[in-house]
Amino acid sequence: MLSDQEVMHYSRQILLPELEESGQLRLKQASVLIIGLGGLGCAAAQYLAGAGIGKLTLADGDRLTPSNLPRQSLYSLQHSGQLKAELAAQRLQAQNPHISITALAEYLHTEQLPEQVGEADLVLDCSDNMTSRQAINATCYALGKPLMIGAAMGFSGQFLALHPARKHGCYRCLYEPEQAPPKGCQHAGVMGPVVAMMGLLQALESIKYLAGAGTVPWGKLHLFDGLSHNWQQYALPPAPQCPICGDKQCN
Ligand SMILES: [Zn+2]
Repeated sequence: MLSDQEVMHYSRQILLPELEESGQLRLKQASVLIIGLGGLGCAAAQYLAGAGIGKLTLADGDRLTPSNLPRQSLYSLQHSGQLKAELAAQRLQAQNPHISITALAEYLHTEQLPEQVGEADLVLDCSDNMTSRQAINATCYALGKPLMIGAAMGFSGQFLALHPARKHGCYRCLYEPEQAPPKGCQHAGVMGPVVAMMGLLQALESIKYLAGAGTVPWGKLHLFDGLSHNWQQYALPPAPQCPICGDKQCN
């Protein structure tokens, strides 16, 4: 049940015929794991908290530096040096007291990742490196959890929604583990609004999936070029030899 306060709080969402109170209740009952509280995670977390996802888990071992601030809207300069997961949790809890937020101020390692993914209904990959992305993809497939992936570098953004129960490719089909980009954001630079756009797509598609509204573009790679404002979309077929999703094709 939603309390009277919650109905008031989420009134503009409940007015949407695609949500109504039943969709809002589904959001309240949902548990979402956000891995990475940088530019992607800040944007996604802000709108998932705002939308009333009942349980948010925020995982990141990073501490805030001033160079994060152009993209990471949940933080302030005065909090430099503090743990992002804890700062984000405090800020989001103030934004929405009706939800439960857990801060995991650490990088999720081999044992923690399956444990945390297993407890979530949905996972957002807002991380910034290939090793984490491959591990998150593999864990979500092993545990059958849907995954919203965002990425950005320079003026370019990527968004990809994956569902292990569906017959499309996975992140491992798209990139080999050793296929790390030559430069990370730290060296190549990144445009803040492009990162935020990808984080917001992760939030939007998560809300739609959890509330049962509209259609999620599962298995479609969306590429955005912020310099030309050009969008491209590709279907992601399963790679025949993929060690992560390959077996699923035989079922
Ligand atoms: Zn695959």
